[in-house]
Amino acid sequence: MRTFPACVGGHSFSFRDSSESDSVPAVIRFFSRWAALGALVFTGCVATSSEPRNLDSLKAEIRTYIASGAYDRDIAAVARKVSAWIETRAAHRTTGEQLTLVLDLDETLLSGWPYAQQYDFGGDDASWNAWTAAGAAPPIEPIREVYRLARRLGIEVVFLTGRQERERAGTEKNLRAIGCTDYAVLICRPNGSKEKAAVYKTAARWRLAGEGNVIIANVGDQESDLAGSFAERTFKLPDPFYILE
Ligand SMILES: [Mg+2]
Repeated sequence: MRTFPACVGGHSFSFRDSSESDSVPAVIRFFSRWAALGALVFTGCVATSSEPRNLDSLKAEIRTYIASGAYDRDIAAVARKVSAWIETRAAHRTTGEQLTLVLDLDETLLSGWPYAQQYDFGGDDASWNAWTAAGAAPPIEPIREVYRLARRLGIEVVFLTGRQERERAGTEKNLRAIGCTDYAVLICRPNGSKEKAAVYKTAARWRLAGEGNVIIANVGDQESDLAGSFAERTFKLPDPFYILE
């Protein structure tokens, strides 16, 4: 009998050659052989591929996540928690406290979904600069509501963005377009800064705290928005598009 050894994971298996002649009908031998192979695949013996997930499949998953409304629902769920917290905290404000809400911009208050769609989740510096200069990013509505609530409660709002100073004009235009002009300050990175976002943003919050701001909440879509300290609470929004360190 010729055999075909199959690997794997410390196990060994043999398949009988189809040319072998015995009393078992050929059709049964055929199905038995493929049933054995299927069992190997099922147990992971053969399926030990390290092939990563397919890029086009991942893009399709993200589109479905957004089109289904799940992305919006996930954002709204976080926004409700932010709103509940700042209402509670404002109710317990002590005399003289300058309560401050720190908000990131991209994928927090401003949606980059149109840009991601236009460039199929790609893009480059030139297209990104054109996008921010246009100042046409739509608002992420639940976070705009958080901004409005904060202002009604007398909480200062600071926009702390990874965008650079050269993008300030377009960013201010965008904030005007979505009606978010009643903020304390817009903090942008220095042009050409190579500092990691977490370092830059933590340092900015440290400066804000030193100026008397009591940062009651820090909201962003990146872990790097929230790393470090100088905020009573942090709130992480979903971001299926990218990671910034
Ligand atoms: Mg962001």
